[in-house]
Amino acid sequence: MKQIAIYPGSFDPVTNGHIDLIKRATFIFGEVIVAVARSAHKQPLFSLADRLAMVKNATRGMKGVRVEAFDGLVVEYARENKVRTIIRGLRMISDFEYEFQMALTNRRLAEDIETVFLMPSERYSYLSSKLIKEAATLGADVSSFVPSFVEKKLKEQLKLK
Ligand code: ADP
Repeated sequence: MKQIAIYPGSFDPVTNGHIDLIKRATFIFGEVIVAVARSAHKQPLFSLADRLAMVKNATRGMKGVRVEAFDGLVVEYARENKVRTIIRGLRMISDFEYEFQMALTNRRLAEDIETVFLMPSERYSYLSSKLIKEAATLGADVSSFVPSFVEKKLKEQLKLK
């Protein structure tokens, strides 16, 4: 049976760290669903359609990767798709508290769904979408942190604001 995992997140925008994690996940799971959350409460910089398009572009040609949008609870979405594994990334100790809380909350909501943590390459362990947005706002060169089409989109989006 093909092992399927869901990698949920806001991906606002997708970074080289996310891409590194998706690749690692494909080494373990037969299929990885990258689930882009609407995350309206987080007031994302990019629309859901833009975030979805950027993740699709970043994972084009990667075998076993599917990209979808979702809204609401991750565990509900996992159940709907008959998936029992959620993937999350752990960069630093600072991620741990939030991720630990969320994993245990999700376990309480759905005992049959397990969260698996993957570590990115140390090259990406300090990267976050938030930091990249801040740096880009201040005019920094973010070309080593995100794919070139994301960098372009960031420039366009920040000009609009
Ligand atoms: P969320 O809003 O759900 O935290 P993010 O898009 O910020 O969504 O992150 C999704 C997941 O990817 C989280 O588990 C986060 O820890 C992980 N992640 C984010 N950036 C990186 C990175 N540079 N390397 C590895 N994992 C990362």
